[in-house]
Amino acid sequence: MSEKVVYQDNKIIPQSILEEAKTALSYYPELKDVKIEFRYKEDIKKSFMQAQPEFSNLFKGKDDRSYNVFISSRFLIEEEEFSMADVPSEVLIGWLGHELGHIMDYRDKSAAGLIIFGLRYVTSKNYIKEAERAADTYAVNAGMSDYILATKDFILNHSHLSDSYKERIARLYLSPEEIIVLVNKLEEDLEKAEQEGS
Ligand SMILES: [Zn+2]
Repeated sequence: MSEKVVYQDNKIIPQSILEEAKTALSYYPELKDVKIEFRYKEDIKKSFMQAQPEFSNLFKGKDDRSYNVFISSRFLIEEEEFSMADVPSEVLIGWLGHELGHIMDYRDKSAAGLIIFGLRYVTSKNYIKEAERAADTYAVNAGMSDYILATKDFILNHSHLSDSYKERIARLYLSPEEIIVLVNKLEEDLEKAEQEGS
């Protein structure tokens, strides 16, 4: 579908989202040595993107693991179909930043922990909520709040998306208000740290 580019020696990125992926990755220096492949996939149920550990090397140990970020080639949500061209760059960066937040979350889990995580994710709504919020929180803490807000705004205010999809996003993810609270808290902590340091 799109030519692939190798970046940082260990990231494989389709040319069509290269700049956005580079920007999102720049917020996560911790992922510099982590192998990640961004790939298009035909049908991802109910979402535009999905981050997963690569199953074939799941048991190799935390440092040798690699991850996939699957991107829906059609961006078909409910019955509505979009193309990548309909998605503004900053929204795409926010989306990728959220997925990289999932990888940050996966990094510290053991193989068994990840399997349990996967099972809980498909069986428990509360667990989905916890995992999605963890990913958003990683992205906001990494400094990506403006992008995350742009993504949220795009989803929640986009007339092409069904109400049930919007409702799902509003229910499971951090709300824009919660993100602002988180950013304010980060800034407070930073000021405190600066005052203590002076
Ligand atoms: Zn997610």
